[in-house]
Amino acid sequence: MSHKEEKRYPFWHVAPHVVILGAGASKAAFPNGDKNGRELPLMQDFVEVLNLGPALSEYDIEYEGVNFEKIYDELYQSNDHPELVKYVENSVREYFSKFEIPSRVTLYDELILSLREKDHIYTFNWDPLLLQAYRRHSKIKKLPSIHFLHGNVAVGICKNHKTVGYIKGCCSKCDNPYSPVRLLYPVADKDYDSSPFISSEWKHLEWVLERSFMLTIFGYSAPETDVVAKEMMGKAWDINDKKKFNEIEIIDIKSEEELHATWSDFIVSHHYSCWESIRDSLIFRYPRRSCVAWGESIMQLDPWKDNYLPEFNDINKLQKWFAPLLRQEVDFDEEDKRLTDLQSS
Ligand SMILES: [Zn+2]
Repeated sequence: MSHKEEKRYPFWHVAPHVVILGAGASKAAFPNGDKNGRELPLMQDFVEVLNLGPALSEYDIEYEGVNFEKIYDELYQSNDHPELVKYVENSVREYFSKFEIPSRVTLYDELILSLREKDHIYTFNWDPLLLQAYRRHSKIKKLPSIHFLHGNVAVGICKNHKTVGYIKGCCSKCDNPYSPVRLLYPVADKDYDSSPFISSEWKHLEWVLERSFMLTIFGYSAPETDVVAKEMMGKAWDINDKKKFNEIEIIDIKSEEELHATWSDFIVSHHYSCWESIRDSLIFRYPRRSCVAWGESIMQLDPWKDNYLPEFNDINKLQKWFAPLLRQEVDFDEEDKRLTDLQSS
């Protein structure tokens, strides 16, 4: 967002909405697995779902009730069984590479289309489903940007030219096939800087959190192994000059007390809400207008009419529903027409 835009419009018309996705988001988006019923794991059932138990038992590694990232971390740091580390890394990549998005509308399609070009999605997940959903809407130009905080099986890079793209594609500069990005990192020291790709994704998140208006945390529990990640986000959020107006939404099945305790450093007074389903969030209540509608409501005391996203099965019907909102954004960009409540006009 340029300074010109910030001066011309109230900040809630142009400031980003940031969405953070954890394992719980992919699980909620694909409760019955992918197109072929392949199951999405959570960190607590990770070893079981990926069937890593037999290999870990062979090396007498205790894994029952232990967070997978912690297991990997200890294995990596000890350096006692490099062949097991390699086996685990390969199994993770293989398991996640096989996911295929169903042809019907998924929650990820709805989420992507419900955010504007100025908004950003950051995912911790390795599965390719968010990117697969994104790719089928590529003809719609005004999509949010998506970023991968822990790498992703569908993302490729060219180390020579620092280009990034779909893993099956080629570098736009040298035409060589992309190389995969690393997926597993020793979590204790979160050595993101060893990967320029991951490090640039984190810098992007920090830069955006300093400027954003709304933050939605969906299915990300900020595990204790991820202390550094949470600290990095907290610091960026803290220097955001709009922090006292900012709104946080937490989408999770845990109790509100538990969620408040996890995210209390991020929450200013009562500016937060917790929902079990993302369908209740401002993103689905005011698709593509979460920031504008909320800003008009709290800053101008002019609440907009609810415009909940209807449920569709068909991708074309879903895209069609967004057409009037997208048209309004073209007028906003090209003719400087303010975004108004379409439901009232
Ligand atoms: Zn290249």
